[in-house]
Amino acid sequence: MDFTLTPEHKMIEQTVYDFARKEVMPIIKEHDRNHTFPHELLPKMAALGFLGICLPVRYGGAGMDYLSLGIVSEGLEFADSSVRETIAVHLGLHALPIFQWGTAVQKRDFLPPLATGENIACFGLTEPGAGSDVAGMGSRARKDGGDYLLSGEKMWITLADVADRFLVFAKTDPNKGVNGITAFILERGWKGLTTGTIEGKMGVHASNTGWINMDEVRVPASHRLGEEGEGFKIAMSALDNARYGVAAGAVGIIKACLEESIRYAKERHTFGKAIAEYQLVQQMLAHMQQSIDIGQLLVWKAGWLKNQGLRNTRETSMAKWYCTEAANRAANDAVQIHGAYGYSDEYNVERHLRNTKSAVIYEGTSQIHTLMQASYALNERQDRPMRCELPAYDPAVWEAES
Ligand SMILES: Cc1cc2nc3c(=O)[nH]c(=O)nc-3n(C[C@H](O)[C@H](O)[C@H](O)COP(=O)(O)OP(=O)(O)OC[C@H]3O[C@@H](n4cnc5c(N)ncnc54)[C@H](O)[C@@H]3O)c2cc1C
Repeated sequence: MDFTLTPEHKMIEQTVYDFARKEVMPIIKEHDRNHTFPHELLPKMAALGFLGICLPVRYGGAGMDYLSLGIVSEGLEFADSSVRETIAVHLGLHALPIFQWGTAVQKRDFLPPLATGENIACFGLTEPGAGSDVAGMGSRARKDGGDYLLSGEKMWITLADVADRFLVFAKTDPNKGVNGITAFILERGWKGLTTGTIEGKMGVHASNTGWINMDEVRVPASHRLGEEGEGFKIAMSALDNARYGVAAGAVGIIKACLEESIRYAKERHTFGKAIAEYQLVQQMLAHMQQSIDIGQLLVWKAGWLKNQGLRNTRETSMAKWYCTEAANRAANDAVQIHGAYGYSDEYNVERHLRNTKSAVIYEGTSQIHTLMQASYALNERQDRPMRCELPAYDPAVWEAES
């Protein structure tokens, strides 16, 4: 067993943390205050290869492995959850499902503009009346000649108003439950497709969260991802990738909470001593460090499994569940350590507290992950092989130009 990062991983870690400190941190508070999306970061993230970090070079990607996706996610969320969300959705929930399930033509045509940031993409599964209960979705796709006509509404969609590309799910056979769901890739500008932004969120103000409305949108069969009825499997496999990024990002935000809490605890004095000297404060710091160590091991294990091409649904769920809960706890403690100052946006920790709450809701609520882990423990749930698995990382293949 080897827990050391390779020189390439260390280089990515250095690059992403530098980017977080120099490019994201100086601007993110204003975006959060104004509820604006940091469009200016997209070309910079694209230039550093983050938008296609674990895609092969022949698809415009950086040719790195899946652990690198975790490292990038961690570093971005060290600065702000909203920025990490962009990667989790654009790459984890949209590009990687195409890489896993797409035809050779779809991969050739759709992946390069995603990896280079020419297209920004989102993932529409949740609906106003159906979140955890995916089979409860109302969106429908009916065949019309060689095309499909899609109607329905998606809600709480990250990047809905920013994206050019939409991976959405609709029922082609409403009588078949989850086996009647099919995945489609839609493009902005298509007739009947409209989007909007949801106002009044608690956190992730610098991320765009919105809705997608589909009114008889005509979708050619070339834009169906996978076979009819494979949509649920595609959505769940996409979540395996994005949950991994969410978990890694949560480790980054705990690191930020710890760094900022230590700095403040050493500066702030009460009763003649720095508050860092009080054991009750130290206990909160120690718990943050504990969460970082445990969380990082869970994330790295999931990343290692992905690199081997091994199924990691259980491990990724565990990492997401543990890390997001730990991040929410760490942010709460960080605000506590900062006292009244923590309750204002003069410091970053109040933003982290608001942001970490979203991650225990999306990508499977903590209750859903609890149920999943219980069913694995009780041997009631087994992961069956899928028609298309996420390919194992192979440097020779990933780095080849064609
Ligand atoms: C900021 C943000 C960004 C998001 N981005 C996206 C996105 O890009 N794409 C997308 O498709 N969705 C996105 N979502 C939606 C998210 O995935 C859903 O909110 C989530 O799946 C939960 O669904 P829900 O909100 O409908 O809650 P519900 O499913 O209605 O659940 C409500 C409550 O009931 C609990 N519950 C539900 N079922 C059970 C059960 N069987 N046992 C015990 N408890 C249960 C839940 O844990 C929760 O506490 C986003 C959400 C947020 C907040």
